[in-house]
Amino acid sequence: MPFSLRKLKIREQLLVLTLPPLFVLLTSVGLFFYAYWLATRSSRTIVRTEESVAHGETLLRNVTEMDAATRGYLLLKRPSLLRAYATAARSASRELAILLGLAQGNTYESQQVAAVQSAVNQMEADWANPALIEAEQGQLPDLAETLKAGNARVAALRAQLLDLLAQNRAASSDAVIQTDRVMSRALLLGVGMAILFGAALLLLTRLVTSTIGLPVRQLIDASERVGRGDFQPPLPPPVENEFGVLSKSFANMTAALRREREELSALKRFTEAVTQCTSENEVYDHVLHSLQQRFQPQQVIIFKLKPEEDFLEAVATLVPLPAELRDWPVMEGRYSCKAVRMGRPFRVNDVTEEPLCPGRFALPTAGSYYCGPLIAGGIIIGAIRLQGAKGMWTPERESLLESYLSAASTALSNLRLLQTMREQANIDSLTGLYNRRFLEEYARKLMAMARRKESPLGFIMMDLDHFKSFNDIYGHEIGDHILRQFAKTVTQTMRETNLTARFGGEEFVVLLPDTGAKACVLVAERIRKAVTHMAVPSGTEKPLPQITVSLGIAVYPDHGTELEEVLQASDKALYESKRAGRNRTSVYVEDAEATG
Ligand code: GH3
Ligand code: MG
Ligand code: MG
Repeated sequence: MPFSLRKLKIREQLLVLTLPPLFVLLTSVGLFFYAYWLATRSSRTIVRTEESVAHGETLLRNVTEMDAATRGYLLLKRPSLLRAYATAARSASRELAILLGLAQGNTYESQQVAAVQSAVNQMEADWANPALIEAEQGQLPDLAETLKAGNARVAALRAQLLDLLAQNRAASSDAVIQTDRVMSRALLLGVGMAILFGAALLLLTRLVTSTIGLPVRQLIDASERVGRGDFQPPLPPPVENEFGVLSKSFANMTAALRREREELSALKRFTEAVTQCTSENEVYDHVLHSLQQRFQPQQVIIFKLKPEEDFLEAVATLVPLPAELRDWPVMEGRYSCKAVRMGRPFRVNDVTEEPLCPGRFALPTAGSYYCGPLIAGGIIIGAIRLQGAKGMWTPERESLLESYLSAASTALSNLRLLQTMREQANIDSLTGLYNRRFLEEYARKLMAMARRKESPLGFIMMDLDHFKSFNDIYGHEIGDHILRQFAKTVTQTMRETNLTARFGGEEFVVLLPDTGAKACVLVAERIRKAVTHMAVPSGTEKPLPQITVSLGIAVYPDHGTELEEVLQASDKALYESKRAGRNRTSVYVEDAEATG
């Protein structure tokens, strides 16, 4: 795998990135100290050689004085010249000692100073040589010879000294040149290092921008995109450093957000779908489908609470129930369901470890289940059970499921409310029969159907006889009771296809599709007779007098082509029954002649 700076941890990246400028800085400091050391050494050399030159010059002067004193004494014999000689010789030996000290460490120079010293010593020895002593004692030797020999030695010594001086001067100027060179090189190096340091810093900045700045920028871009609703933004590569970890957790976070958004839009779609359902079965289908999609359960059972019979009936299932449970109230007694009993969800995440619901319908393979009541308007209208893998119920899933159940409950309750409202609009509250509004609407439909089929539609209009007096004598409540009992008697006598309605007060109408006048008479008579056997308690010890009803028959299309006409015809027939003595049936005839 090729080396990449971006794969390193931030600490390591910074370490690597600071290395070039650090290297340049350390090199610069090292070079600076080296230059300082060179300069100090050169200046020391200069000082030393300058001193050597000065002392060399003094020594030359001393030697010249010694030579001059020797010559003078030889010529003039003045003792003062001997003293001058001694002073110059002392000074010369002092200067020689200093020069030897300064030449220490420099072998060549030391040798030269030593040579000069031995030459001076030779001069001293010459001073004590017998020729001079003789000269002092007045026995003058060959002066010319002595002076000649002295001249040669002094000349040699001077040459040696001048040579030493020249060397020291040269060394001094060398040191000056070297110092100059070192200083200019140090300056050049300083400038170079400064440029290098700047370049290294620039490189560092660029590298920091690309290795640290780039992933940071990518993460900023990604979070901005998430903010705009794009949940799949490009992210820095998942390398093993802090950015990799950040990138990974950012990706996890956006994935969670994306999932949540998908869940929410699925829930929204579900809510819209169930709101538009026109029947409870349609709602159940949506619930099964959506719960299967979102939760992948093994089984879903929707129960409908039948309050009047007090049990929960399984009305829809994802997988067909076992045969022994299919045609059986799945929960006998609503309170055998814990969720219904508690009025809140009951969840078992591991059926092998937690106490279960007594319901007899768990799949043997199910590892967990969730039972939730379907509550609408604070009333339990049913329950739902999901069975699935062990441990599938996390708090998030439970809360999501509750949202689905709440939407389903609301849709179911709305449907029921609508149904009730529809029924209430069409049904007479006292008798439970259809009302006049519905009768007229329905009669028109039946008339249209009869027209197409070219078959008759029978109308029986009924009116209780002397009903007012029942009210007056036994009270309104008994009157109501008679009306309810009458309605029940009529519906029990009727076929299901016939429709009975309360037309108003104590008047009722029966519609009989495909029934002609003769057949209508048979039905009407059956009703009339049944009514005479009707038993209604009087509320007193004395039983009620016999209740009777008068009936009038008209048939569409024989007695009218419009509803009003047929109703009027049946009313006329009814009137005829009343007129003829009540408790009888009449069929409408054009000239209002009655039969019965
Ligand atoms: P007839 O044999 O001629 O039909 O005599 P009737 O007394 O039945 O005649 P009428 O139509 O005059 O009386 C109808 C009575 O029905 C009047 C009213 O007090 C009563 N009634 C109408 N609606 C109700 C009701 O909802 N409850 C009760 N208890 N009485 C009602
Ligand atoms: Mg009446
Ligand atoms: Mg009446």
